[in-house]
Amino acid sequence: MNGIAAAIGDLVQKIGRPVRLMEVCGTHTVAIFRHGIRDLLPAGVSLLSGPGCPVCVTAIADVDRAVALARQPGVLLATFGDLLRVPGSAMSLAEARAGGAQVAVVYSPLDALELAAANPGHQVVFFATGFETTSPLIAATLLTAQERATGNFSILSVHKLVPPALRALVATPELAVDGFLLPGHVSAIIGVDPYRFIAAEGGRPAVVTGFAAADILEGIWLLLRQLAAGAARVENQYQRVVRPEGNPRALALLDAFFEPADAVWRGLGTIPASGLTLKPAYAELDASRRLPVAVPAAREPAGCDCGAILRGLKTPPDCRLFGRACTPERPVGACMVSSEGSCAAYHRYGQRPAPPVGPAA
Ligand code: SF4
Ligand code: SF4
Repeated sequence: MNGIAAAIGDLVQKIGRPVRLMEVCGTHTVAIFRHGIRDLLPAGVSLLSGPGCPVCVTAIADVDRAVALARQPGVLLATFGDLLRVPGSAMSLAEARAGGAQVAVVYSPLDALELAAANPGHQVVFFATGFETTSPLIAATLLTAQERATGNFSILSVHKLVPPALRALVATPELAVDGFLLPGHVSAIIGVDPYRFIAAEGGRPAVVTGFAAADILEGIWLLLRQLAAGAARVENQYQRVVRPEGNPRALALLDAFFEPADAVWRGLGTIPASGLTLKPAYAELDASRRLPVAVPAAREPAGCDCGAILRGLKTPPDCRLFGRACTPERPVGACMVSSEGSCAAYHRYGQRPAPPVGPAA
């Protein structure tokens, strides 16, 4: 590890200016802290967290919709635990549950389907969040629901696609990022090709990277090697898991049930074709069609900088609520709730001084 850290130091010297890299994936953020990678890097390299945690990017309006559904009589809402405490405009799902709404925590979409079988008197709605990593599991669950002719199961799909969000980021004029560490798990499903535009249109290098400390350091080294050579390519550090074409079976399953739709991302706004909605043929599995609820306009929490943090424009300590009004015990924004959230990671593992924000060279 020290050898590669030294090689990174040599490349920074060669580049001759500070370099800012974005780790797109929340699991990378946590791994970087846990392995002390920031402390191994020379001062000229800064790491920024990006929009890579599905909980953090779930829009407040979508949390509000889930809360409204959970409060409908006869509805049982199933959700992953991390989402329970994400503040909505008026309340979180945990607060809705404390007020009498039926909310169950599940560990997989199949658990939610089992809940439907065990509760025939209820409409069971699974709050389906996540990136390409989890959406094939949802599609497999929908297939099982169809085979079993489950009449009381549907999903509220707020699934998101990573490449369109990166496309929106790369097009941001104030983006101060020199290169991207790309998420290994998402890439195992979609492959490497969907990222080519980062280099071709954004002129920045990008490396699909695994999650071990050695993977991350090698990913950083590969990015710096490109920057030192003035190159911009998409490389695959995680070849033992990620094939260039991804996982065709998972992609076919996704394609059978879902189609792309515009989606609202916290901090990034509406991004065209960046979400997944159920195809019209599966309307009976789609909670937004089966159980429509009216939701007032969403209200963002005052003072929360999640939006700027998810775009790499600020780091958590820049937020004046960080560690004061906003802590993991009393989160104000989603980035402090999720175990993969940037604010939660900074809070748990301490922090290195924030790099100055300015345009990337
Ligand atoms: S789902 Fe996978 S790729 Fe996405 S943030 Fe989590 S670990 Fe990273
Ligand atoms: S510290 Fe809290 S309020 Fe500030 S950006 Fe993070 S989640 Fe939002």
